[in-house]
Order: sequence, then C-alpha cells, then structure tokens
Amino acid sequence: MPAANKEEIQIWQTANPATLTPRIDDKSQQQSVLILARQGSGHAVATGQIGHAIASRATHIMFDYTQSACAIRYQIDGQWEQLPPLTREVGDAMLITLKQICQLNPADRRSAQTGKCEAKVNKDKYQLTLQSQGTASGERVLIRLDAEKVPFNVLAELGMRDTMIDQFREALNSESSSVLISSPRGMGLTSTWHVAINAADRLIRDFQSLEPENEKEIEIINISPNFYGGSTGLAPSELIRKMILKEPDVFVFPSIPDDDTLLAAMDQTAKNEKQVIARVSANSAVEACAKICAQYPKSAKHFASTVKAVLNQRIVRRLCEDCKVGFQPPPALLAKLGIPPGRVAQLFQQFVMPPIEQQVDANGKPAPIPPCSACQARGYLGRVGIFELLRPGPQFKAALLKTQDIGQLTKIAQSEGFRGLQSEAILTVARGLTSLDELKRVFAAKKA
Ligand SMILES: [Zn+2]
Repeated sequence: MPAANKEEIQIWQTANPATLTPRIDDKSQQQSVLILARQGSGHAVATGQIGHAIASRATHIMFDYTQSACAIRYQIDGQWEQLPPLTREVGDAMLITLKQICQLNPADRRSAQTGKCEAKVNKDKYQLTLQSQGTASGERVLIRLDAEKVPFNVLAELGMRDTMIDQFREALNSESSSVLISSPRGMGLTSTWHVAINAADRLIRDFQSLEPENEKEIEIINISPNFYGGSTGLAPSELIRKMILKEPDVFVFPSIPDDDTLLAAMDQTAKNEKQVIARVSANSAVEACAKICAQYPKSAKHFASTVKAVLNQRIVRRLCEDCKVGFQPPPALLAKLGIPPGRVAQLFQQFVMPPIEQQVDANGKPAPIPPCSACQARGYLGRVGIFELLRPGPQFKAALLKTQDIGQLTKIAQSEGFRGLQSEAILTVARGLTSLDELKRVFAAKKA
C-alpha cells in the first residue's frame, strides 16, 4: 500500500461495521467459517464497507477490480454513485473475507460465483447476495442488499392514492378472482409484491404460495410456502395438486411455472371461489393481461373471466422535502401535461447547486451554499411508486380472448374508466412528490 493511503481515513473506517454471518445451520460449522474469516486482514474492511453501504441506504454495491485499484459504486434510490476507490491490496483482502463468509472460493477470480450471507447493523437485518465474475481487467463483484424488513410498510407510504388503495384492497380480498402484480423487470417489483400482499387480509384466509426450492422467496407472515424442484423431487403440477387438497383460500404465485399448474389453480378460482395472486414482469397492466393469455393459453379463459385487478408500477426518486424548489408552471407546460388551468398553483423540481462562482452574497463576495443535510445535495431522498390499477370491465375481458394487441386493449380499458401510468405519473408531479426531470429519466429507461 502506498504510504499516503495509510494516513488518509478510508470510508470503511467511518461507519458502524456490519456483522456478517454465513448462512449455515450448523452452529459449530458457522463458527469455524467466522473464525477463519476474522483472522484475515480484510475482515475490518469488509464489515466497515458493508456497514457504510447500509448507512448510505445503498441497495447494491459494485466493486470493479483493475490492476491497480478496486473501484466502488453504490446504488442509492436506483442511481449509481461513485465512491473513492480502495487500493488493490486492501480491496483484495476485503473480497477474500466476503467470499469466505458467502462460502465461495476466494482463490477463484475468474469463474462466475454466487453466494449469500446475512448482514446486520444495529437491529436491521439484510440478506447479502454476492456475485463475482472475472473480467478482462480483473474481476467484477456485485453485492445486493435486501432488507429483511420491507422498507415500505403500507401502500400509502409507497405513494399510492387513497381511492386506489381501497379499490386494490377490495380486489385482494375477494373470492373467485385473480389479481396480477406487475412492473418491468428490475423496477422494484419485489418491494411492490411484498407491500401488495401485505395489504391482503391474511388472518382470516389461508394463503399458500408455490415456489421453486432453489429460489425461495423472502418469507411473508401468514403465507405458507410450498416448494417444488430441487430436493423435493416434485414437479409444479404435482405440487399444485397436493396444495389443492389442503383447500387454501388463496394460491400465491411469485412466478408462474407453467400453463398446467396455473390452469389447476385458475380452475379453483372459477369453480370453488378461490383466489390466485400472481407476480408478472410487464411494462403495463394491460400488457400483463395479454402476456398471461399469450403464454398460458389453457389458463386464458379462466383468467379472463376471473381477473379482478392488475397493478403495475414504476418507482421514481422522491424529491427531498427539505430542499425541493417550487415554481409556477407556465400555462403551456400545464397544457402539455394535460393539467387544467388553475388546478395546480406550483410544481416542484430538485434543488441544483449553482456553480461555485455564482455562490455569492449581495455584495458579490463568495458565500458557499452548504449542501442540504437531509439528502447530501442529491435533491432526492427515498423513492415513491407510480401505480396504475386496471379493473377490467366486461368489454376488456371479452376482448382479451380475441386479441393481444396492447394498443387496442388499452383503448377498451380506457373506455371502461382505466387511467394509465402516464396520467398517474403527472398526478405524482402535481402532488409535489417527484419532478418532471425524474419522470423523463424513468419513462425513457429500458423496457421489460
Ligand atoms: Zn435535500
């Protein structure tokens, strides 16, 4: 390590370190992995860096190893941010510790490896997933941090309007129905799934979920998981038959394995007053419906007759309440957004720090503006969901079995009172929760 670096305080030294624990049931085996890991010089770096990432509200950490350094990035509120790099030596030591605790091979810097462990800071627990892969210049490591406690507890906290919450709850709590929860891949579908399921009344009804054994979901209170594949030796269609015998009220599908399995569950909604709740990746609620009918043709008829509600969502950054800046929207902008004149007095945008030469007082003397302490001058703090809720009417249901044309289906849905994501997004801006810049960024992003 160059002498200069020894003097400087490194980021990993500034945070409350995380406690990292291997996912091993046998306590003595777990202990011996930990003892070995703690002996390494990278243990303090690893726990400090993970602790710092958690304190910074990072959901992902990327380490890029090149010949001389280990570059670090955090993803916070869906945006990547660069941090000061570690020296290669310190970065290597850190990675050895992380791989040991995730039960991976530290000596292998080339193959794709994936492992997990638990991370804990104070009382907050996280599931840490580490993926590493050799690259031309060294190695790339992606760490995902999933909070055990889902950050948004209620739909309102996630930004859903009250009327929509009522409508969605009603759908979730009705028999003989199917409900889809959707969003484009990587757009916060997991958070929404948890929040949405939590809105259902699971105390008086029996919820049973069907999951692949090797991709278990994070547990949700009062949902009993059932596993197929892996060591169970069960095909999903066999598992669903066993589940039907237990006569649950709700079949929960975090992912749909195949048409026959879905059909068996859908058949129960149509004939035995049961419910199906499924998670689907799609760009819109209408697309989610079309996708089910196209991919699972045998189930399509039951689905079209029972579909009660389809939720779709985008997650955007929430404007920082402490530093957001109000402005009077010009009439032309309101017209463009479809907001009637006189309805909204002001809109908000993120605070942008002016260049240093413009940070002057009335006399032109330099007067640096202190960065906002709430958001560290990012202008945004936390996230907010934009939701569309499709409650298909008779015409939409009938059309679903005849066409999968998204444009045509959307027109029919709109004629039956459906309000799409774009107009919901404008409402979110009108409520001062996010900015037009942020909408442009998210809606221009890649699709599912
Ligand atoms: Zn701020």
